[in-house]
Amino acid sequence: MGVPVPLLDLKAQYATIREEVRAAIDGVLESQYFILGPEVEALEAEVAAYCQCRYGIGVSSGSDALLVALMAINLQAGDEVITTPYTFFATAGAIVRLGGKPVFVDIDPATYNLDPFALEDAVTPRTRAILPVHLYGQMVEMDPVMEVADRHGLHVIEDVAQAIGAEYRGRRAGCIGHCGCFSFFPSKNLGGVGDGGLVTTNDPKLADRVKLLRGHGARPKYHHKVVGGNFRLDALQAAVLRVKLRHLDRWTAARQHNAESYRRRLAASGLVSDGRVVLPVDAGYGRHIYNQFVIRAERRDGLAHYLKQQQIGTEVYYPLPMHLQECFAGLGLREGAFPQSESAAQESLALPIYPELSDAMLERVVQAIGEFYSSGTSC
Ligand SMILES: *Cc1c(COP(=O)(O)O)cnc(C)c1O
Repeated sequence: MGVPVPLLDLKAQYATIREEVRAAIDGVLESQYFILGPEVEALEAEVAAYCQCRYGIGVSSGSDALLVALMAINLQAGDEVITTPYTFFATAGAIVRLGGKPVFVDIDPATYNLDPFALEDAVTPRTRAILPVHLYGQMVEMDPVMEVADRHGLHVIEDVAQAIGAEYRGRRAGCIGHCGCFSFFPSKNLGGVGDGGLVTTNDPKLADRVKLLRGHGARPKYHHKVVGGNFRLDALQAAVLRVKLRHLDRWTAARQHNAESYRRRLAASGLVSDGRVVLPVDAGYGRHIYNQFVIRAERRDGLAHYLKQQQIGTEVYYPLPMHLQECFAGLGLREGAFPQSESAAQESLALPIYPELSDAMLERVVQAIGEFYSSGTSC
């Protein structure tokens, strides 16, 4: 058996930036300034500029970014938000926490992103917003999303947790809609040393609203205009994220290199032409940042099991679409309601794609996939 290949190796990344990260943390410790403050403000400006947005507001997590953005557009109980059933839970959870109703549209099976041409039929008089998720690092096709939103006067809140720096026709994720919601969870392309997130917008009123809500709606201190929450980002996260942001383009290039390498090697293996493996589709309208490299695989669970035995890490994103989650049973949606999301949940498998993955490790992953199918292992 060869060297283990984890799905993600944050230690390998840390080894390349250890001194910079430690110096940044030390700076915060010396300042003893921990909540918001100059490091957070600098990060907000830098991430906003990186994403071609006017404003950035650091918050406590990607989940809270979604929550506070929906609060900022004043989402009310009973309001409907159109989104995808094939996403991480936080997307739908934020809507429901505010008493809103998620209205799902199925995904485009090629990109795993919500099908923008299914949006129009989901709009009702109660619809307030559309919440597209740029899954795995590739943006939703935004022109038709914005067209539907404009026609019906809806807000568009982008879930950019997996797509920092991704582009659609030359524009970066986060500011094509009214707000962008970012996560700095350690496994994201720009990950902190704990939880963190950020909201972007070009709208000064929304930026102001998010800032107000982030600190319990207080303005000035101890005088509360609205009921917000503690959605603050801390300085330690910001200082580390500022260091890592400087390396992000290099890491993205390495992920793109690995994606190309998988495409080439999997195609050469014959597994693609015989239909056992379906490669992820690059929609071709802009920069894909490959937060994940997700294939569809015949006998997916058997393959994942075999790779695990070979000490190769994989993950299923996501095994159960939102409409089939126990906590959303009240929506009354059944199996079969969103067939594309359901088959993606059964067939998709994320392979290791992290920047420090070597060509040799990647080759080992491809070889092991080939062994599984040629050995006739019947799982
Ligand atoms: C990670 C993620 C979130 C939540 O971010 P946290 O920082 O973990 O709260 C939301 N949406 C998507 C699509 C994600 O991948």
